[in-house]
Parts: sequence; C-alpha cells; structure tokens
Amino acid sequence: MVLRSVAFGTMMAAAIVPASAKVASHPVADAQALEMAKKAIAFRSVRGPGNQTPQTLAYIKDQLVAGGFSPSDVTITPVDDTAYMIARWPGSDPKAKPLVISGHMDVVEAKPADWQRDPFTPVVENGYLFGRGATDMKFDGAIAVAALIELKREGYKPRRDIIIEFSGDEETTMKTGKIIADKLRNADIVLNIDGGGGVLDEVTGKPRYFTWQGAEKSYSDFQMTVTNPGGHSSAPRKVNAIYELSAALLRIGAYRFKPEVNDLTRASLTESAKYETPEIGAAMRAFAANPEDQAAIETLAADPATVGRIGTTCVATLISGGHAENALPQRATANINCRIFPGHKPADIMAELARVANDPAVTFKDVTEGSVATAASPVRADFVGAVKKALGSVYPGVPVFPSQASGASDSMWFRANGVDSYGASPMFTKASEDFSHGLNERAPIANVAPSITYYMSLFSDLSN
Ligand SMILES: [Zn+2]
Repeated sequence: MVLRSVAFGTMMAAAIVPASAKVASHPVADAQALEMAKKAIAFRSVRGPGNQTPQTLAYIKDQLVAGGFSPSDVTITPVDDTAYMIARWPGSDPKAKPLVISGHMDVVEAKPADWQRDPFTPVVENGYLFGRGATDMKFDGAIAVAALIELKREGYKPRRDIIIEFSGDEETTMKTGKIIADKLRNADIVLNIDGGGGVLDEVTGKPRYFTWQGAEKSYSDFQMTVTNPGGHSSAPRKVNAIYELSAALLRIGAYRFKPEVNDLTRASLTESAKYETPEIGAAMRAFAANPEDQAAIETLAADPATVGRIGTTCVATLISGGHAENALPQRATANINCRIFPGHKPADIMAELARVANDPAVTFKDVTEGSVATAASPVRADFVGAVKKALGSVYPGVPVFPSQASGASDSMWFRANGVDSYGASPMFTKASEDFSHGLNERAPIANVAPSITYYMSLFSDLSN
C-alpha cells in the first residue's frame, strides 16, 4: 500500500493513464502484483546450473493456493534443469473447453557486471521496476496471477475452466511449451501474456496504440554445404568449395521472396501506418491495398524495420570453410536464417533457396531446432470484442489493432495443434525503453492498476 501511494502518485501525475479513464480500483491486487513480480525477479531462473525456474514456480504456486486455488489443481513438473506449471480453476460447465493463460518464468541470461544494478535484485525507482524479467515476462505473469486471485476474492465463478500455465524454457529450447500445448490441446482459446502490448508516446508518455498478436513468422535455419576433394594450394583447381559457396550466397543475398499479406498484416500495416514517417506510412498503406505495388515494396524492403512485415526473409548468419592456410578447402558451410511468413512449409522455402543457389554442388539441410511453422490464428470476434472492451475500460479511445510477430513464442505450439492463440499483454512501454533480453530491463509500474482491471475484464469475458 505504501508503495502504491508513493510510486503510483508520481506516475498518475505523469498522466500515463488518461485522466478520463475511470479505472476500477483493486489496491490489494495491485500491491500483490508488484510484490510478486519483485519476488519472482529475485529468482535466477536462467538455463544451466543453478536454474531457479522450479523455485520461481513453487513461489507462484504458493500465491495461487493462498489465493484460493486447490493445491491439487496446481502442478509443477520438473523437466531437465527447469520445470513448468499448470494451474486449473475449475469452471461450472465441465463440457466447456478451457480458457488458457500462457506465459513463462524463465529469463534470458544477465551478467551482473554489465548492468547498472544487479539484474536479480528487483529495484523500484522513478516509477519503474528494474530487473531481469521486468518486461519479459515475470511482471506480466505476476499481474495476471494477481488478477485471477482478485477475481476469486470478488466471488467470480467461471463457466469454463481457467488454466494459467508457465513454461520454463521459452527463451531457450522451448521444450516445456510444447509439452504444455500437447496437454492442453482441448483449449478453446489461449491468451499469451508474453505477446502483444501497448506503445507509449516518447514525449508525453501517453498511450498511443495497442496491438494484439495473432500470428508469428516461423524460424528456420538451413545449412548450405559444398564439399570438394581439396589438394595443395600451390596447384589450384578451377572448382573451389569456398568460391562455389560464395557464388551461391551472393545469388541468395540478391534474391527477394515474393511479398505477401494476410488479414492480420493488412490490418496491422493499414492501422499502424499513421505512426510511421509519411514515406513509410504511405508505402505501408499502398502495399496493404496492393501487395504487388513495386514502389511500395522497394520502400518497405529497404527498411530493416519493415522488410520482415511484407514476406519471408532469409539471411546468411554464419560461415566457415577450409582447414589450413596452404590447402584447397575440402568443405565450406554457411547458415541461412529464415523468418517464414505464415502459410509456408520450411521445406518449400529451403527448396526455393536451392533453386536460387542454382548449383547442384551446394547441398541444403534443415538444421532448425525447436520450431514449427504455423498458420495465423483467425480474427475471432469474441476475442477482439473482449480485448477492445477490456482495454477501452482503462485506456478509452486508444486504437487497438492486430500484429504479427517476427519470431516465435509458446503460441507456436498451440497454433500447431489447431488451438487459437493471441498475444494480449496490457503492458505499455516506450519503444525506446524496450530492454527485453538486454541490459537494465525495466517496466513502468503505472501499468499495474490498469493491467489488473484489463485482465479481470478479459479473463471473465472469455471464461463465462
Ligand atoms: Zn518472453
């Protein structure tokens, strides 16, 4: 409570929450969310020796049980050096398919020597919560747990089961996310609280827009290899593994996959165009209207921030070859990393790369680990309606539109099982302050009160 009155008072004055918003008050849940986030950040839930993901989950389980969950409905399952948690709030209709709330409690490695503050000592300062996991995604997770406990406290009775689950290796192998999605393949809908989110204006700090994430590009790594008999470097042959690989790489570097749109990216490009420079904005609108507009394609393909939004991209990321300074290379290899537009099979993209390389001496191999290609989730009226209502109750008038992510999240495993999954985190941050995976990660604590209200509205609307 002390925290709330001091820190929140400052942030409210900064007008991050619009003055007109009548945000329902849940002071107990607000305080609990911040306390839980701090405790969770203090656990070093990083892959490898001493991974404290299981302890983080045990702490979350204690909070859920203290908040009214039956201990037998909250299971923590160890896997390798990590663990995952599935917690069930039984609904009144056993035939109704569950609502799943999905997150993760592992974090990316953080080296204390590089940080201004210790990454695993949570600090609240100047209206921000600092620490590894503040944005990705222990703070989000704590707020969602506190919102569920507040719904229980208020006597809410869901019709569907509400399941909240946290995977334990989303940032690395993504093994537990797949196990969870396979166990919960009967879900009606998944809210991934590690995706989507809002953007604050860089100058005023006010909310500009909010996006929910309904699709993600799939991640693939393809290894290109050229082998050659080799020989002495004093007697070069016409055919050289390094030259052959280099020539193929140049052809791939010059190649552009056919630009494309889907329902999600069309809406995303059209509606986010107004937040871009006039040139980029105009190109985004023109491309959304006609994905064959060459001028628009040239503009968007030239900008690293937009090239990935208009189709599949593949790029060389690693290269190695040869075995001695004075020998002809017997082998040369390169890694091509692709971000594949929804709707394509990795095998088809690899075949397309092989056609472009246009040299039978260059072999291709899919060396992707822990990723699967998925289609976009449909634009579901019940989800879109619930998210607009929930967000409108705390940030009235702030535009809400869909987005497609450039990388993979745990949603991938649900979508691969045919379950609709949507990134719907209510966290608002400035684009310049997104330090996920980076140094000095932090999130504005003014997010807590509106996020609790938002989650309570969204969770109840989608489970009743
Ligand atoms: Zn994450």
